[in-house]
Amino acid sequence: MFKETINTKENTRTVDLRSDTVTQPTPAMRKAMAEAEVGDDVFGEDPTVNRLQEMAAKITGKEAALFVASGTMANLACQLAHCGRGDEMILGDQSHIFHYEQGGSAAVGGIHPRQIPNQPDGKLAPEDIEAAIRPDNVHFPRSRLIVLENTHNRCHGMTLDAVYMATIGDLAHQYNLKLHVDGARIFNAATALGAEASELLKQADSVSFCLSKGLAAPIGSLVCGSAGFINHARRARKLLGGGMRQAGVVAAAGIVALDEMIPRLADDHANAQKLAHGLAAMKGLDVETDFVKTNIVYMKISSDQSSDYKSAVDFADELHCRGVKILPTGPYKLRAVTHYGISADDIDYALNVTEQVLRKF
Ligand SMILES: *Cc1c(COP(=O)(O)O)cnc(C)c1O
Repeated sequence: MFKETINTKENTRTVDLRSDTVTQPTPAMRKAMAEAEVGDDVFGEDPTVNRLQEMAAKITGKEAALFVASGTMANLACQLAHCGRGDEMILGDQSHIFHYEQGGSAAVGGIHPRQIPNQPDGKLAPEDIEAAIRPDNVHFPRSRLIVLENTHNRCHGMTLDAVYMATIGDLAHQYNLKLHVDGARIFNAATALGAEASELLKQADSVSFCLSKGLAAPIGSLVCGSAGFINHARRARKLLGGGMRQAGVVAAAGIVALDEMIPRLADDHANAQKLAHGLAAMKGLDVETDFVKTNIVYMKISSDQSSDYKSAVDFADELHCRGVKILPTGPYKLRAVTHYGISADDIDYALNVTEQVLRKF
């Protein structure tokens, strides 16, 4: 009965909230890609790649930058540039590098990942970091690197502010370690905090950020750091098979992303607020609205409903039948992400559909 009543022609609409990676390139990006001036980037001769790298270095406040194929490759190239085999890297137990990058640190780099607990707001407690740093002892691996993630994907898309970032950078340097920032969504953090990305990254030895998420470019990430560091990262990129040739064709979209797409991230954050508060008001869902600061909203099927909706996958399937896509990330947990392809009206639609799906019970 329910399925029949909702299955009207309006149901052909799709609101895809699974990730900000589903964004389509803008018309300006398509045009820039078609017209890009290109060369062989392994020889350093692609003017469009070079321009994108200069822009990335400037915006992050670093000396140099390197264009790579993905965020995963960016993070791995940084780890390889900072650490040798058997070195230890301190990172959060909820970090993207630990969860979603196939253990490349160990598989490719021989790097020992030392996880410490992420606080609910995505931070690592300085005392936990300090306790994890190894003294010089023949039994121990050598501590080399601390990794922060900003915004923090699995911790509600939370932001780490400039004071905290500088504190951890100083701590790293006090012990002669390096700080890497997985800044896949660093511009979301900067927007939400009302800060410049370069302020957040002042004490960071390296940062990776994605063009292909909220900034809506089709492909690519940047690694930024000192000129010496970038030389190491460039070697690592080649080792990983990431030396690209006329890559200006895709870098051109990245230039448009940095030029035009950062200011509109505030719209995604406003849409996420609207979504989070709308969902939180519904019986059957738990949403920690206080943690929603950027474009990521996590929700949990309330335990009193869990006998009706057996799992997050069931719930997502019901929504999907009605044109709303969200991502199950745990037995009862789901994630929705706002982005360039989502309007305020799409949020209204998604809320309506969710309400209908919940009211089935
Ligand atoms: C998406 C993401 C990455 C990896 O980016 P890919 O381009 O998908 O490889 C790394 N870190 C964080 C926090 C991310 O959200």
